[in-house]
Amino acid sequence: MKAAIYKGVRQMACEDRPKPTIVEESDAIIRVVRACVCGSDLWFYRDGGHDVDGQTGHEAIGVVESVGSDVTIAKPGDFVIVPFPFSCGKCPVCKAGFESSCPHGGYFGSGDGMGCQAEYLRVPEANGTLVVVPGDAKSFSDEMLASLLTLSDVMSTGYHAAASAEVKPGDTAVVFGDGAVGLCAVLSAKLMGASRIISMSHHADRQEIARKFGATDFVEERGDEAVAKVLEMTDGYGADAVLECVGSALSNDTAMKVARAGAVVGRVGLPHDVEADIPGLFFRNVGLRGGPAPVRTYDMRRLLKEVLDGTINPGIVYTAEYTLDGIQEAYAAMDERRTVKSLLRVSEV
Ligand SMILES: [Zn+2]
Ligand SMILES: [Zn+2]
Repeated sequence: MKAAIYKGVRQMACEDRPKPTIVEESDAIIRVVRACVCGSDLWFYRDGGHDVDGQTGHEAIGVVESVGSDVTIAKPGDFVIVPFPFSCGKCPVCKAGFESSCPHGGYFGSGDGMGCQAEYLRVPEANGTLVVVPGDAKSFSDEMLASLLTLSDVMSTGYHAAASAEVKPGDTAVVFGDGAVGLCAVLSAKLMGASRIISMSHHADRQEIARKFGATDFVEERGDEAVAKVLEMTDGYGADAVLECVGSALSNDTAMKVARAGAVVGRVGLPHDVEADIPGLFFRNVGLRGGPAPVRTYDMRRLLKEVLDGTINPGIVYTAEYTLDGIQEAYAAMDERRTVKSLLRVSEV
């Protein structure tokens, strides 16, 4: 089968790899229909930190090809979303709805046969991982497939930022980050009823999508100037909900400073060298929550229905499309900000 392979810094290739097979009876093999490149893939693309000659990708939708004898959730032919974490579905962590932190699970994107940017994928713990999509997948438009694909990561991760920040109807929410996750966080804040949504975007193409998703204001300043701007917009009190979708030290620092006393900062950006003013947060009663998104819980609870009903159309974050043969260009275009997010058309339903 064809698979995207990491060859070194800024070097991706499409190579032939053995098609994965059932290893454990809890496994499912998926024929990938659509996959994509994630902002987090750019970390190893730019700086290394991934196995050279290893497979890549953690976001996919596809058709079940075969299942082990323990798999009851899906059968061959079913159309499924593959959330970026795999999880047992049975332990107290999974039952509490935080399966992305399951001690028996892990993440796709490393290991042979476990990369989503490939023609076939092995899914461990299928019963606790897969999200089965009801309906006739052959009738889904390209737009619908793109929106379903966002439910493997970015839409559900944006939703986690909003849920962690406890966005309520009428709130003023501030969203840090204008990558696909930040844009989906805007859409999620809107879905939860925020009446004013301030996006920290300073790119015209991304502001346009943010506006479609419900952003009402933009702050292009950074650091102390951004803090001053948000305080000025909120009568000096700060925002009711803060959604942090970047992970950098500056973004986190600014996010904690623009939170109104009593607000929660919902964090989904992978933290890099972040420090927190714990005493300062204490006196302002500001909370910090968030982490890897429990994609499956949100998909099954709400988001899959919202997408299938057409209430939300998060798939517009994909602004360019490639095949596996074009994997180098799919990464390069995102790295050079020529596209918000690269879609990979792998096969047809
Ligand atoms: Zn991702
Ligand atoms: Zn578990």
